[in-house]
Amino acid sequence: MALRHGFKAEANRLAVQVRKELGLHAAAALQPALLADHLSIPVSTFSAAAAVDSRIAILLGGEKESVSALTVHCGPRRHIWVNDSHETPRQNSSIHHELSHALLQHEPGPAFDPRGCRHWDGDVEAEADWLAGNLMITNEAAWSITRRRLRDAEAMACYGVSKQMLTWRMNMSGAASRRRTA
Ligand SMILES: [Zn+2]
Repeated sequence: MALRHGFKAEANRLAVQVRKELGLHAAAALQPALLADHLSIPVSTFSAAAAVDSRIAILLGGEKESVSALTVHCGPRRHIWVNDSHETPRQNSSIHHELSHALLQHEPGPAFDPRGCRHWDGDVEAEADWLAGNLMITNEAAWSITRRRLRDAEAMACYGVSKQMLTWRMNMSGAASRRRTA
């Protein structure tokens, strides 16, 4: 599936705009908790849910790869739940993905199709994945990483991202071509 025309530029503008609203520089790191608070969307952990209903604990153990995060809709309100058995960079990415659905005003879809299988809207998910990347590392941030000559480990710590996310964003922003990582 392809992102609609103009979406990539729109996503970066949105990621810069929310930073502006929060008083942050366009190249600054953005904690998902800060953005969630700004959007008045509570974020809770699967651990907290498991403390109430022990059956949920399987999502933190044997089935930990089955769900990264999800948004529970209650009328116009959203509540994000994140799988806190995952590494922090992955949790950051998962929360930013769910927040992206909110920023893009994606309508809540059915969680399951008529056969009872997980429902998957490829276009909507691709948009949320792309915007989540921009929320973590804007194009301005990617160029700043190059300009400041940050090593991978420094950039990963600064922006709270995995190596895979860093590499993807450096490539997609075009900033990787000017960068020396050695
Ligand atoms: Zn999604």
